[in-house]
Amino acid sequence: MSQLHSFLDTPIGYLKGIGPLRAEGLQKELHIFSYKDLMTHYPFRYVDKTKFYNINEVNEDGASYQLKGFIESMETLGDKRSKRLVVKFRDRTGVIELVWFQGHKWMSEKLKLQTEYIVYGKATQFNYKFNISHPDIELVSEEIIKQQSAFQSVYHSTEKLKNKNLDSDGIRKAQRVLNQQLNEHILPETLTPSIISDFNFISKYHALKQIHFPDSKELLEKATYRLKFEELFYNQLKLLRSNTLRQEAIRGFVFNKVGDVFNSFYKDHLPFELTNAQKRVVKEIRIDMGSGKQMSRLVQGDVGSGKTLVALLSMLLAIDNGFQACLMAPTEILAKQHFETISELVKPLHLHVALLTGSSKTKERRVLHQSLETGEIHILIGTHALIEDTVVFKNLGLVVIDEQHRFGVAQRGKMHKKNVQPPHVLIMTATPIPRTLAMTLYGDLDTSIIDELPPGRKPITTMHFMESQRLRLIGFMKEQIALGRQVYVVYPLIQESEKLDFQNLQHGYDCLVDDFKPPQYQISIVHGKLKPQEKELEMQRFINKQTQIMVATTVIEVGVNIPNASVMVIESAERFGLAQLHQLRGRVGRGSDQSYCVLMTSYKLGADSKLRMETMVRSNDGFEISEVDLRLRGPGDLDGTQQSGVLDFKIADLVHDGQLLQLARSTAQAILNEDEQLTIPENQLLVRQLAAQAQSKSSWSKIG
Ligand code: ADP
Ligand code: MG
Repeated sequence: MSQLHSFLDTPIGYLKGIGPLRAEGLQKELHIFSYKDLMTHYPFRYVDKTKFYNINEVNEDGASYQLKGFIESMETLGDKRSKRLVVKFRDRTGVIELVWFQGHKWMSEKLKLQTEYIVYGKATQFNYKFNISHPDIELVSEEIIKQQSAFQSVYHSTEKLKNKNLDSDGIRKAQRVLNQQLNEHILPETLTPSIISDFNFISKYHALKQIHFPDSKELLEKATYRLKFEELFYNQLKLLRSNTLRQEAIRGFVFNKVGDVFNSFYKDHLPFELTNAQKRVVKEIRIDMGSGKQMSRLVQGDVGSGKTLVALLSMLLAIDNGFQACLMAPTEILAKQHFETISELVKPLHLHVALLTGSSKTKERRVLHQSLETGEIHILIGTHALIEDTVVFKNLGLVVIDEQHRFGVAQRGKMHKKNVQPPHVLIMTATPIPRTLAMTLYGDLDTSIIDELPPGRKPITTMHFMESQRLRLIGFMKEQIALGRQVYVVYPLIQESEKLDFQNLQHGYDCLVDDFKPPQYQISIVHGKLKPQEKELEMQRFINKQTQIMVATTVIEVGVNIPNASVMVIESAERFGLAQLHQLRGRVGRGSDQSYCVLMTSYKLGADSKLRMETMVRSNDGFEISEVDLRLRGPGDLDGTQQSGVLDFKIADLVHDGQLLQLARSTAQAILNEDEQLTIPENQLLVRQLAAQAQSKSSWSKIG
């Protein structure tokens, strides 16, 4: 086996036609180091090369056309920057211009008059004439015609590689050289016979031949299906298995007691009846923490679904079993709010709840550190400050992380070290994420979903206003304030310039003051430049209803809970992503009044922005919104995906392959259900594949 492996591990420079220079380019530009890397540099699309169009059929419709004809004339026109090669290309139906701006000198030397070529590209119209700029162009030869399969693969390349003759065609040539050397021995099967037969998959070898050089549409589909499945299957098998392994390796504290603290709170001090979803999730958590395994559970729930209460009940269980608990929030405002809510809720229980943030004073800290170590403090709430090494618990049993996507995996790991045995971990996400993403991002965690809002919530009414409707907006705000409600006005952060940001906000504030004059109206303003105490003061004025309007940047985005605020105005809403818009909107609709969200945008909206606004107006469902978000942005831009490895998929695509992912996961789960340790002979193939993948990952990181 090792000998066979070594063939695919051959450095790419050894492939005929590549050599050291191109190899260096492939490594730098596309991370292709070995034969195997080239083999898995899959085409991103295919073109039908059996069909030729007549030049008089060409249209400016965004489609690519393949033409066959002769070069009638060639001319280099313009100078300096506008210098270009213009070629008149003719078939029996007409003439079209081919234009090169880059590499025109090289092209003009290479192309020959009165010679037959195949041209491929998209046409544009200019001065009533069609032209194709930078087309693919190839000499017509017996060999090319013969080699052309119906679906010709197209590969990603880069400008630098194109200069080394490794455009899509160049890469295809290299793929062919490699493909011809492959056989069933070099490419043995990588899925077990039972999976192959259950899904009627074509063989690995066959699939790899067909994915690069398809013989038919049907075979191409079969190859794609198999390779995608395989990629997703091993991803899920790895995650599910690491969950099992972790649970075996790490013993968890056993919280088997439901004691006085929990019971007394639950029976006598619960501010409201739990929703069924909350009850279910609390039960799932209780079972986890009583199982002897270490809990790593993710709670997903839409904004306002009542995650805080679930967290609190879990912490009470820890306390009943003689442990401390902590809750970590991403911002100071949020940590403070949690501290206040929870302190209030547990007042009758005489528990010691403490707050630790970046702005806690040194003296306070010293006292706090001490009472943590003696075990006097039952619940510690705070920000990243909790992670610091100086924060030592007597006996930490549960860590709750709120709004997870802002914390990295590394930080999760650090919390593990806060006790001799790792504490249970409960993670609560701020924003629902699409199921496919959850399965890959958090596939190694157990998941609970709170899919029900507390009763009596009125759905938030969302409106999309353009700038010309500003007077209407002001009227509406005044109406709502007259009813005793409060209003948020949020401005986007302009990442590039804090200064511009601030000007934007300040300008908005000044305009508002014109329309909402004191003493009748009072306005709070909160932004990143304020000191924590100033922020605090402004928040407090709003909470105490001394001000009716809160102007803010997105610092209020996460978690703030002010039930009397029932209007959320989002300025330049087109600049926010869907997840953020939904998060912001979730700041209202927390009381019993009808709430509103107003999205202010300019007139000129791109198609994506329009769809975002429409989605927000149409839907209040965070899960539905997250699906649209994924479709619009792709997984790469969603929070938390960067470090997660989701983007390492070479052929599967989380936006479109959700169902296949589900299938891959249930297949992996079924195998582990029957053979948890993967010990039966047939499954040894799976173990070897997982190991091989883990190894190639680690050699990767060495290179990176
Ligand atoms: P999130 O899931 O967004 O963190 P919170 O925990 O902040 O939501 O809860 C949102 C609001 O709903 C809070 O005001 C909270 O007191 C209230 N709430 C939570 N659970 C219930 C319930 N079962 N019945 C009624 N109100 C509830
Ligand atoms: Mg919350």
